[in-house]
Amino acid sequence: MSAITTTVLRNFINGEWVEAQTEQFQAVPNPATGEELAQVPISTMADVESAVQAAKEAFETWSQTPVPKRARILFKYQQLLVDHWDELAKLITQENGKSFKEAYGEVQRGIECVEFAAGAPTLMMGKQLPDIATNLESGMYRYPVGVVGGITPFNFPMMVPCWMFPLAIACGNTFILKPSERTPILANRLVELFKEAGLPDGVLNIVHGAHDVVNGLLQHQDVPAISFVGSQPVAEYVYKTGTSHGKRVQALAGAKNHSIVMPESDLDSAVKEIIAAAYGSAGERCMACSVVVAVGDVAEPLIQKLNESANAISIGNGMDENIFLGPVIRQEHKERTTGYIESGEKEGAVLVRDGRNDEAYREDGYFIGPTIFDKVTPAMKIWKEEIFAPVLSIVRVKTLEEAINLSNQSEFGNGACLFTKNGSDVRQFRERIQSGMLGVNIGVPAPMAFFPFSGWKNSFYGDLHANGTDGVEFYTRRKMLTQRWDF
Ligand code: NAD
Repeated sequence: MSAITTTVLRNFINGEWVEAQTEQFQAVPNPATGEELAQVPISTMADVESAVQAAKEAFETWSQTPVPKRARILFKYQQLLVDHWDELAKLITQENGKSFKEAYGEVQRGIECVEFAAGAPTLMMGKQLPDIATNLESGMYRYPVGVVGGITPFNFPMMVPCWMFPLAIACGNTFILKPSERTPILANRLVELFKEAGLPDGVLNIVHGAHDVVNGLLQHQDVPAISFVGSQPVAEYVYKTGTSHGKRVQALAGAKNHSIVMPESDLDSAVKEIIAAAYGSAGERCMACSVVVAVGDVAEPLIQKLNESANAISIGNGMDENIFLGPVIRQEHKERTTGYIESGEKEGAVLVRDGRNDEAYREDGYFIGPTIFDKVTPAMKIWKEEIFAPVLSIVRVKTLEEAINLSNQSEFGNGACLFTKNGSDVRQFRERIQSGMLGVNIGVPAPMAFFPFSGWKNSFYGDLHANGTDGVEFYTRRKMLTQRWDF
C-alpha cells in the first residue's frame, strides 16, 4: 500500500516504510478546509540514528557507483516526475494551500533541479594542469562528502527538497530529508518515485518530525553536511550549531523583499508583477514582494491600481478553478498575520485594503484577503519583520537613491526589484542594492536551478548557496594530486 494513502505517515529508511519510534504525532490539516489529511510522527533521536546508519552503509556503494550510472537513475526519476506532474501538484495544493496552477509551476521547478543534477558527469569533473613545472603536474578531483542532512520549510514542499537531495545524491552522497512537519506528505511520494527510478536502498531516507530530528542531525558525527531552508532564527541556530559540530552548513533564511517603482515605469506591467509577487502563494514565498517603495509621484496612481487589482483577486480553495489566493498554512499563522495588521494600524500606517473584510476570512480554511498598507515607515514592525502572508506595505520616498538606502536598511537581503524604463536607474540599483537576487521589471526574480539561490545578509548563513555550481561545491570535497614523472 502506498504510504500517502495511510493516515499515519511513516519514515522511509533503507528503502522501506518504517514506523517512527515515537508516541508523538501531529495532525496535518488541509489549510483550505481544516480537514485532516494525515498524522505526522514527531520522530526521535532513535529514528535519526537508524537513518544515519542506513545512509552511512549505502554511501559505501553509492559513492563508488560510476557517475554516469548515477545520472541515468536521475534521468529516469525526471521522467517519472513528469509522468506524475498532476498528482504531485495536487498533493502540494492539498497540504500547502497554494493554487493548483502555482503548485504545477512548483513541480516544474523541482523537475528542473533533477535535470540539472542529471548533468553530474560534467558537474563532477575536476581540473588539471599538466605542467606546473618541468615534468610536474597537478590535478583536482572531486568526491562526495558522505551523509547529508536536509531540513526544509512548509512553503515549497517539492521545490526546496529538490534543491537539495537530487544534486547531493547525483554527486555520490547519501541523504536524510526532514521535511516540514506542516507539509510532510509530498516528500513521501518523491522518495517512492525515486525508488521506482532505481535508486538503491539507503541512498535517500526520510525522517519526519521537528526539533529533535533537526538536533539529531546537527549533532551526529556521521553527518558532515547540512542543507537548511527556513526562517531566520532557525537558520541562524542551525548554522551556528552545525558549524560548532564541525559540519559544513548552508542555511537559507527569511526575507523582506523590496520592489522599487519609478515614476516613469510601465505602471500596468509593474502592478501585474507586484500583485503576483505579493499575493501569489498567499505571500508565503521567500521571494515574495512584501514592501513597495514608491518613488515620487508614482505613489497615488500605483496605490489606486494595486487596490483595484487586489479587489479582483479570487480567494478560495486552490483546487477550485480560477482561484488565485489560497489560505495561509495554519490558523495560528492567520492569527499572527491579523496581529501584524493590528500593529500596522496602531503604529500609524494607512490601511488601504483590509484582508479581514473579505468573505473568505470567515470560512473554515485559514484565509486572509489581500491587505495593503500605505505610508509605512522603517520604524514600524510591519516594515521590519517578515510577515509571510498576503500583506503588502508601501513606503513613499522622493528619489531612487532614497529608495535604495531604505531597502538597504532591512536586516534581510534575499531579493529586490526595480520597475523602470531607464537604464541608468538599473545600473545604480544593481551596483548599490544590498541584496542577492535582483529583478528588473519582474516581480519574483528567483534564479533557475543552474544558478545559485543567492540571498545576502540575514537571508543566508554560510558560504556556498543552494543550486548551480555552488551546490556542486557544497556537496563535494576535493583532492589535489601533484605528481612528478621524470624517471
Ligand atoms: P521554519 O524555520 O519554521 O521551519 C523550517 C524547518 O526547521 C522545518 O523543517 C522545521 O521543522 C524546523 N524547525 C523549526 N523550528 C525549529 C527549531 N526551533 N529547532 C530546530 N528545527 C526547527 O520555517 P517555515 O515556517 O517552515 O518556512 C518559512 C520560512 O522559510 C520563511 O522565513 C521563508 O522566508 C523561509 N524560506 C527561505 C527560503 C530561501 O531560499 N531563503 C526559501 C523558502 C523559505
